[in-house]
Amino acid sequence: LEKLDRADVEGLQLRLLRRLVRGAHAGSPFWRRRIDAAGLDPQSDFDLESFSAIESVTKHDFLADQEASPPFGEKLVTRPEDIVQIMETSGTSGIGQERHPLSGREYEAMAATWPYQFYWGGTLPGHRVVMTLPMGLQCGGLMLKRAGEKYGVNSLFLAAMDARRKLEAMVRYQVDALIAVPTYINRLRIVAAEMGIDVRRDMPRLKTVYTAAESYPEFWPSEVAEDWGVHISEWYGTTQAAGNHAFTCEEGIARPDGRPPVLHNIDTHVLMEVIDPATGRHVADGEEGEAVITPLFKTDNPVLRFATGDKVRFVGHRYCGCGRPFSGIIGGTIQRYDDMMKIRGTNLWPAAIDEVVFSGREVEEYAGRVWVDDAGREKVEIAVEFKTGAVANRSELMVKLKARIASSTGVKMSVVEAASGSLPRFDFKVRRWTDERRKDRQVVKYLAN
Ligand SMILES: [Zn+2]
Repeated sequence: LEKLDRADVEGLQLRLLRRLVRGAHAGSPFWRRRIDAAGLDPQSDFDLESFSAIESVTKHDFLADQEASPPFGEKLVTRPEDIVQIMETSGTSGIGQERHPLSGREYEAMAATWPYQFYWGGTLPGHRVVMTLPMGLQCGGLMLKRAGEKYGVNSLFLAAMDARRKLEAMVRYQVDALIAVPTYINRLRIVAAEMGIDVRRDMPRLKTVYTAAESYPEFWPSEVAEDWGVHISEWYGTTQAAGNHAFTCEEGIARPDGRPPVLHNIDTHVLMEVIDPATGRHVADGEEGEAVITPLFKTDNPVLRFATGDKVRFVGHRYCGCGRPFSGIIGGTIQRYDDMMKIRGTNLWPAAIDEVVFSGREVEEYAGRVWVDDAGREKVEIAVEFKTGAVANRSELMVKLKARIASSTGVKMSVVEAASGSLPRFDFKVRRWTDERRKDRQVVKYLAN
């Protein structure tokens, strides 16, 4: 597939899309209503433009559907007895977990994309791969398990161990690759240092780190790559798409040409539209918008035009020199639209504060809090935890930090010190901010799915 012409990719994508829409219309009342409302004739040879007339579906739509006809709603085409795997979203938004079951055929198809990422990242069958994503009803771990089996890697599921025991196992088994989110990679770096583990020396076979698409400070990938002597590969995926479908190629995150990394979307597996939320139109090459996804292989449990809430920057298939015919999104910049905090009239993204707080490299973790004081003023405070032993002039640093945050974000915050080890650490989902202004949603989080 990666050697096809762009025109062939688009042709195949459209054929798969028409098949999907016809099946969804015939088999699911939920989707039939939405397709009919868009005035789309499922039997016609419609194009992408007419498909985009279908209103995008949100988490709220899925939750309402499954509540009206439990447990899965009217969105299913498949018979319940054909379901082999139930998946739930993580529900960190506090409004409930969507249920996305898979048929046996979909379960196999779900695992079809990771071989691209393994191969592009330099992982071969037989390699030992540490997987740190939780194994339960959430998509990430389940998908990795099946993908690892299909591709033939030796998967080590270490999610249940603490960081120390994970590192011991990584040294003991001389692993080739690690799969973890950026925050957890940082955690492992800190604990490795405490244990006297030098990754280059003690894990000489570790060559690739696979990490999730979320935002990270610009210096971060090259720092980890240098520190550990590894290639860093990034993915993007959602539960609604039953897994990952966009990955960096051999160029990785820290590209030799210095340009921002691109995640190539496997366009024949998942259709990814990038939509300007203001106009509802597709954005142009290089512009930002919301990722709206349609997994083309999910014909038994369809998902048509799911609005992810993820803000991404779209690029066409010519961006990367590797010549693959897939469109893409820029890595390291993916944020949640609903993460955005409005503070004293200013739009503030947690990633902007991460960038400032972590750029000096003295801070190990921080927690932010927004509240309204008795006088009705919006207050923001961040508590920072310094790296152990690293910093002598802490009060001076906090003053500097406060000034840098104010100048780069336009929002004044107070900065206080937190005791070593007192702030929460994150294995998987990062939640550094508490917004006490809203009672219905206490936590502003990074990744919803
Ligand atoms: Zn490429």
